[in-house]
Amino acid sequence: MVAHAQEISPTMTRQRFQLVVHGGAGTIERNKITPEKEQEYRAGIENALRTGREILQRGGSSLDAVEATVRVLEDDPHFNAGKGSVFTSAGTNEMDAAIMDGKTLGAGAVAGIEHVRNPIVLARAVMEKSKHVMMIGRGAEEFAKRNGIELVDAKYFFTQDRWDALQKMKAAEKAGADSSKKFIISDTERHGTVGAVARDSRENLAAATSTGGTTNKLPGRVGDSPVIGAGTYADNATCAVSCTGDGEFFIRAAVAHQVSALMELRGMSLSEAAERALAHAEKLGGTGGLIAVDKDGNIALPFNTSGMYRGHVHEDGKFVIEIYK
Ligand code: ASP
Repeated sequence: MVAHAQEISPTMTRQRFQLVVHGGAGTIERNKITPEKEQEYRAGIENALRTGREILQRGGSSLDAVEATVRVLEDDPHFNAGKGSVFTSAGTNEMDAAIMDGKTLGAGAVAGIEHVRNPIVLARAVMEKSKHVMMIGRGAEEFAKRNGIELVDAKYFFTQDRWDALQKMKAAEKAGADSSKKFIISDTERHGTVGAVARDSRENLAAATSTGGTTNKLPGRVGDSPVIGAGTYADNATCAVSCTGDGEFFIRAAVAHQVSALMELRGMSLSEAAERALAHAEKLGGTGGLIAVDKDGNIALPFNTSGMYRGHVHEDGKFVIEIYK
């Protein structure tokens, strides 16, 4: 069952654009986060919203807004994307990202990225400067270099918290399942993702998602985030969606495209479609959440975990930032 759903209609809002962001869903419990840490997460979401709002307020495109918003979250070590990416079982960082333009159905995605500071920038370059939709690993990084996209040493992605989470997971794995109580591993240590969806003043929709994937994943594993239709989707005829959660299940349920298809083919509202698609992933065994905006500017932010870092721009231009249910 989807524990939390929220829909805000544009008639409640005076602004001509919509912007929604997420910083990952999971077991996020109030009593386990210090007020200082909570403040840091909120500030991260706020910075991202401010960046996107500025672009949309001056008439910029939803595509520019989602890219810039995700980029801010990629640079923030609190979130599992870019700088704050989790580690693979081999102790490396492999990032995935995707962006989609609802106006043209153009899409760009990258996977297995190890040296690009902002994978979302590379995803956009794949969409606009190549004839491909998805590029991986070394070839994608060579394409980044040829297009003047910032590359960094792999050391840039080292953060102590993510490294400690990997050690904890490895210890738990070694100790076997029955000793799991000794190693309480929170979802935020396990995964996370960042994403943004927007509708601009010309009613164009866009979605962007970026992630380090899941802690202790096998090198070469790719999640739902860069898979168009699974973790990321946008179509001006319906909606724009960015997902977070157990990628394997979100891929199998084609969650992001399912939201769009349920609206188009079944005539569901955005919130109904979003809940139904999420319930489909949950039925397979996956938990998580998504953010979505539809062609009329309605937004939905359902999740079936105890929390999801999320925010949107309110009617008066102010930010609404929430973490818990
Ligand atoms: N969906 C991401 C992945 O599976 C992880 C997450 O959103 O928590 O790579």
